[in-house]
Amino acid sequence: MHEQEKIFQEESRIKATDLEHRRKINYSLTQSDIAFQKGKNVFSDLESARKRAKNIKWETIEHLNKYLLEFEKKFTERGGKVIWAENPQQALDAVLQICKQKQAKSVVKSKSMVTEEIHLNPFLSRHGIEVVETDLGEYIQQLSGEAPYHMVAPSMHKSREEVARLFHDKLNAPPGLAPEELTLFTRQILRQKYVDADIGITGVNFLLADIGAVAVTENEGNARLCTSFPKTHIAITGIEKILPSVNDLALFWPLLATHGSGQQVTVYNTIFSGARKENETDGPEDMYVILLDNGRTNILADVTARESLFCIRCGACLNVCPVFKNIGGHTYNATYGGPIGSVITPYLSGLKSYKHLSYASSLCGACTQVCPVHINLHELLLYNRNKSVKAHCGSRSEKIGWLLWKKACLNRAMMNITNGRIKNFMIKLLFRKSWGDNRSLPDFAPKTFNELWEATGQ
Ligand code: SF4
Repeated sequence: MHEQEKIFQEESRIKATDLEHRRKINYSLTQSDIAFQKGKNVFSDLESARKRAKNIKWETIEHLNKYLLEFEKKFTERGGKVIWAENPQQALDAVLQICKQKQAKSVVKSKSMVTEEIHLNPFLSRHGIEVVETDLGEYIQQLSGEAPYHMVAPSMHKSREEVARLFHDKLNAPPGLAPEELTLFTRQILRQKYVDADIGITGVNFLLADIGAVAVTENEGNARLCTSFPKTHIAITGIEKILPSVNDLALFWPLLATHGSGQQVTVYNTIFSGARKENETDGPEDMYVILLDNGRTNILADVTARESLFCIRCGACLNVCPVFKNIGGHTYNATYGGPIGSVITPYLSGLKSYKHLSYASSLCGACTQVCPVHINLHELLLYNRNKSVKAHCGSRSEKIGWLLWKKACLNRAMMNITNGRIKNFMIKLLFRKSWGDNRSLPDFAPKTFNELWEATGQ
C-alpha cells in the first residue's frame, strides 16, 4: 500500500469515529444545504442553466488554446503582464521575481486554492516576505497553521468557541469573543496590513477571453482591498478558469453563488482589466496574471477526464458527499477534497500516490446530481479506478484477492463448498483488519441458495 493511502486510511478511521467532528461538520453542511435549497429558486429552470453552463465550458475547454491566447492578447494590450507557468516551481519563481523587483516585504492575499496548490505562503515566508491571508476563514486557518478544510468555507470545521480561543491564544484577543466581535477585531488588524502591503495577491474565479480581464468573486471585500492599496496586483489561476465572454458571467456568477453559498449573487463581484491608467484614480500600478498548468494539460489530453476541467470550484459536490461528511476535508491530504478532488488529484499529483481517493466513494451520484456544470463525477471516479488497475497501481495481494473473488463468484460449486459459518469465519479472517473495528462485516446466510432450493422440494 502506498504511504499516502496508509495515511488516508488511518486518518479516515479516526475522523469517521470522531462524533464531535461529525456534529460540527453536519451542522455546517446542513446550514449550507438550507441556503442552497432556498438560493437555487433564483433559477426558473436550473436544469437548463446547468446544461447551458456545461456546453459553454465544453466549448471553451475544447478550444482552450484559442481562448487563452485571446485573453493574453487583450490583457497585454492594456499593459497587463501574463506569465505562463508549467509547474508550481515556475509560478513560485515568477512571484518571487516580482517581489524582488518591487523590493516587497509584505503581501496581502485573498482566498485562492491555486496558491494553496503551489504552497505559496511557506515559500514566500522562507524568503523573508510576510504573507497575510485576508479572507476571515483563511485568516483563521493561517493562525492555526492548517490548510483550508473546504474550498469555499476554509474553517467550517471550527466552532465559534474554538475560534475565540485561537484569537485569544495567538492575538491576545479578549477571551470568549462573539463572532461579530471577532470580525471587528480582525478588521482592525487587517486594515493596517492592507495599507502597509507592497503586493496584493488574489485568485481568479473566471478569466474573460473577449475583454482580457479577470473576474473575482468574494463576500468580504477583502480582495478589493488587496488590489486597491498595494501598488502591484498578482492574480494566480489555473488555465481552465477561462470563459469566452464577459457576457457568460450572467450565467456563471449566479450559478457559482447559489451552489457555493446559497446566495443569489455573491456580495462583491469585481472585474480587473489591468493596471491603473493615467486618468484613473484607483487600482495598482502593475498587474500580472500567472496562468498555471500543473497537470491540467494531462487532464486535457484525456478525452474522458477532460470534463473535470469544467469545474468552477463551488464546493457543492463536497457538501453532499457522504464520504466528505464523515471524514472531513483534511483527510484527503490534497489541495482539493471531496469528489472533484478525488477526480483531479491523481492527475495533478500522481495516479500511484492518489488513486485510493477514487475508491473513497459510495458512487451514490449525489455529486453529479448537484454539480452546476454537470460533471459526471461518479463516473469519473470509476474511470480513475479503471485507469489505476490498467496502470498496475494496485498491490499484489489486492490483485490476487480479486482474482480469487472472481473465480469463486463465477463458480457455483465453489460457492457451495462451505456453509455460512465457515464463510463468515473466512471473511473475518481476511477482512477484519481492513474493514475496521467500527463496522460490522456482512453475514452469510447459514444455508446456500442451492440448499434452500432443494429444501423447498423443487
Ligand atoms: S465539480 Fe461541480 S460541484 Fe464540485 S466543485 Fe466543481 S463545479 Fe462545484
